[in-house]
Amino acid sequence: MYLTRGEDRLPHLYDFSATDGSDKDLLGGKGAGLARMTSLGLPVPPGFTITTEVCRQTMVAGDVPDELWSEVDAAVARLEEKTGRTFGSGPVPILLSVRSGAKFSMPGMMDTVLNLGINDEVVKALIEWSGDPHFGWDAYRRFLQMYGDVVLGIDEKLFQDVLTELRSDRDVIDDSELTADDLEEAARRFRAIIERERPGRLPDEPMQQLRGAITAVFKSWNTKRATDYRRIHSIPHELGTAANVQMMVFGDLGDDSGTGVCFTRDPGTGDRVLYGDYLPRAQGEDVVAGIRNTLTLNELAGLHPECHDQLIGIMNGLEKHYRDMCDIEFTIERDVLYILQTRAGKRTAAAAVKMAVSMVHEGLIDKATAVTRVEPASLEQLHRPRVANSVRASSAMASGVAASPGAATGKVVFTSEDAVEQMRHGETVILVRPETAPDDIHGMDAAAGILTSQGGKTSHAAVVARGMGKPAVTGAAELLVDARAGIASTDTVDLRKGDTITIDGTKGLVFLGEVELVAPDVPPQLGELLEWADEFRRMGVWANADTPQDARLARSRGAQGIGLARTEHMFLGKRLAIVQRVILSTDPKERERALVELELQQVGDFEGLLEAMDGLPVIIRLLDPPLHEFLPSRLELEQEMLRRVRAGQPIDDLQAMSDQVARWEEDNPMLGLRGVRLGIHIPELTKMQVRAIFEAACKCAKDGVKVKPEVMIPLTAHVNELKVQQTALEAVAKQVTKEQGLKIEYKFGTMVEVPRAALTAEQIAEYAQFFSFGTNDLTQMTFGISRDDAESGFLMEYLDKQILPENPFASIDEDGVGKLMEWAVQQGRKTRPGMEIGICGEHGGDPKSVWFCHKIGLNYVSCSPFRVPIARLAAAQAALGESNPDK
Ligand code: PEP
Ligand code: MG
Repeated sequence: MYLTRGEDRLPHLYDFSATDGSDKDLLGGKGAGLARMTSLGLPVPPGFTITTEVCRQTMVAGDVPDELWSEVDAAVARLEEKTGRTFGSGPVPILLSVRSGAKFSMPGMMDTVLNLGINDEVVKALIEWSGDPHFGWDAYRRFLQMYGDVVLGIDEKLFQDVLTELRSDRDVIDDSELTADDLEEAARRFRAIIERERPGRLPDEPMQQLRGAITAVFKSWNTKRATDYRRIHSIPHELGTAANVQMMVFGDLGDDSGTGVCFTRDPGTGDRVLYGDYLPRAQGEDVVAGIRNTLTLNELAGLHPECHDQLIGIMNGLEKHYRDMCDIEFTIERDVLYILQTRAGKRTAAAAVKMAVSMVHEGLIDKATAVTRVEPASLEQLHRPRVANSVRASSAMASGVAASPGAATGKVVFTSEDAVEQMRHGETVILVRPETAPDDIHGMDAAAGILTSQGGKTSHAAVVARGMGKPAVTGAAELLVDARAGIASTDTVDLRKGDTITIDGTKGLVFLGEVELVAPDVPPQLGELLEWADEFRRMGVWANADTPQDARLARSRGAQGIGLARTEHMFLGKRLAIVQRVILSTDPKERERALVELELQQVGDFEGLLEAMDGLPVIIRLLDPPLHEFLPSRLELEQEMLRRVRAGQPIDDLQAMSDQVARWEEDNPMLGLRGVRLGIHIPELTKMQVRAIFEAACKCAKDGVKVKPEVMIPLTAHVNELKVQQTALEAVAKQVTKEQGLKIEYKFGTMVEVPRAALTAEQIAEYAQFFSFGTNDLTQMTFGISRDDAESGFLMEYLDKQILPENPFASIDEDGVGKLMEWAVQQGRKTRPGMEIGICGEHGGDPKSVWFCHKIGLNYVSCSPFRVPIARLAAAQAALGESNPDK
């Protein structure tokens, strides 16, 4: 309820006592909290909130609206009346604070001015009233310093230099130890600095000071740091901030005063303990600055028993009222307690989980609220060791893309072979490469972490590292990696094999040597929270897994199926030679033999997956990458030929191989003979895979395993591709099940990862029984941007320049890629009502994309086993958000 003034337009400001603080959009978080606490009868110094609407008008007009000032004058008059004090004169002067406060807290990003309404006359009245010259001059010098810095833009260092000089003259370390004379001297010199730097700009008139500060606070909404903060935290730029004008109470009014901050639970652990810092003889900013050591709440009890008890009562009351952990600022002025602010306190991921679950058990919140209290992405923090907070980013030797979170220390190796060998010798290694390729899997598997100088968040190294749950930094461009020479260098450091480094995949930093790592702190309450999430979500959460081990891990984390088993990883290692025989052999019999060998191996692969997922669907994707990835490098073949020629040895076999390899080479393999095209070109390969899938399924079924295989054909663009390939493959499936005399429940479907497939989904669904969005390729092909190259190159520039609002390879580009997806869902289900549709691109584990997938009606999201808990929570939040948009 707002005051009505009989005017047409809404007021520009509201007294704290005029509303119940429910409109956070208009009053900002701080203003809403102050109003709410006032309405609850808490001891809040009086004041008023100028609305966010005024900030929005200021942004449009370039200046604060003129009509505001008469309302400010009236509000100050009401303040004077309420307090019996006066603004700008004695006998009891009011000083004011002006603080920003947006809907979402942006700590320290915008401006604040304190101790407003003071000049040479007022300071005398203040001294008279308080009987404390130290206090009076301190208030004055603080005002000059802040107004000079914040409103007039004078370098803060000029003021600090004066204080430093005075402290050293007195031989003291803290400003509070300066004498009243020192502070008077500081105020005199500060005035002189302001006069020199901004002649005539310091108003003596208190109302002018107030106007200057209010204007500065609104304008600080658009400073670079505030804009950057909003971009990083996805806070809309058009929200605007409110400005809160409040009567100052003084924590520096002698020994019976002080100021502090407290939390109703421990923000680090989530434990139900009251936690607080108190600083006697100080103003709030001194606590935050951390100059002096603070006292605990217990010590406060010794100094001010009554205030302490009152504060504890208020802390408990506020937590019950807000049903959340509160972060509270308070001041004690001459043994009287005041509350200056409350908000939902920031917390670590572990604390968030613990608090949410405990609050349900305490009956404070319901399960749905608990599920919305934890940021899904923050769960990733819980499972990996991390670099300790005490390690400074500035000590890093290089930085790159934070590709896979967590940290690892190990010895540098430059090849996958070295990684495996060193690991066998008991070493912990970091694989350092310009980039990685599918045949580095074994090296990546052996390494504790991966560092590349190229590639971004969806580069091979990043995707595989995340899938493996290993830390990775990619695209560390300042590092020149010469793997052959065994050296990686920056301008200042050369790394050689065996040197120790630490990578921080959470922040994208590389450190020379060891730095302190701290253990992950997975709270035991996580399982319970995720079970509650499962009660609310509508979408399934499946996992991308290629091995039985990954499948079991995914299942243990709650995966309800495999959404993508990439089969190309099964063609590496020892099997590579067999694959090469299939591709290169000119003798059909030899080729047939190689195919049979491969089939045997594949049956084992698929059995393992089906067994691990007993009773759950398993989507197996047929071979996708261009074949040449499995062939030897032509350069290496030529080098070997040269060596043989020099040694007088025959080269015919190598020459034949090199000619064959040349046949498969393409200028643009990503757009070349891959996916379904490959299956059509060499049907024996995909037929072999399908035969293996159904042989495995029959074997498992005979052993009592409940199998649900789904065969996925990649990269379809035209319905006729699917018609040809799927018809051929379904015949194989039927033949195998007939041979085995079994009925197997199965599906054939396709990935939707080429824009044309999305656009023609209605036709494609005539064949495909399910769709799975391959949003890595779909994004790449919709933007026409190579995902491997862009993220370490111009894409970062686009993000810096806000040409793109966010990385489309990390979060679905809803306006473009998202539209194609939405269309494909509608069109696909037009042909095949109730069609199963999911997503298996990297976006499947990104909370924002999970919301989008929920919105467009997907049946499930599939992501790496490590991100399954994140997706479970995000899917639940999406479902709850739909039924209650305020959650
Ligand atoms: C995709 O394109 O989103 C996908 C899952 O396939 P891949 O990443 O293997 O190309
Ligand atoms: Mg793909």
